[in-house]
Amino acid sequence: VTEPQASGDVAIERILARLKDDGGRITTPRVEIVKILLASDEHLSADDIAERVQAAHPSVATSTVYRTLETLEQLGVIDHVHVAHGRAHYHLAERDPHQHLACTVCGAIIEAPAALLDDVAARVRRELGFELEAHHSALIGRCRECVATDARSSGA
Ligand SMILES: [Zn+2]
Ligand SMILES: [Zn+2]
Ligand SMILES: [Zn+2]
Repeated sequence: VTEPQASGDVAIERILARLKDDGGRITTPRVEIVKILLASDEHLSADDIAERVQAAHPSVATSTVYRTLETLEQLGVIDHVHVAHGRAHYHLAERDPHQHLACTVCGAIIEAPAALLDDVAARVRRELGFELEAHHSALIGRCRECVATDARSSGA
């Protein structure tokens, strides 16, 4: 049985139902953050999310958004990844696992297959006994477009 592609409304109902099942309260900032992440294909920082929450609900304080992000993460609804300079970006936890590539020039976050670093993780475990959380942090570098722009401007 293949599940039909969930529309935004169905997806939000499902996420909020799970939140309730886990004993979580349904509050305006929680609903708004889930909606924002559902509607966005990008990865958003806490500040991006706060800005969007406040566009709809000006009375919600930035500190409330930060606290709500932490709570939603504890409840397993969202997940974060560290990108350039340690900033965290958030996405819904129910998304398929993926590795992140963060461009330091334009700020793009590119999704790569989750298994990208499996060989490295296995080797680190074997040789150093270290359990790598490969998805917890982005790989930092320059994206294809920025590399191409750089090559053009340097006359290569
Ligand atoms: Zn992601
Ligand atoms: Zn770039
Ligand atoms: Zn972290």
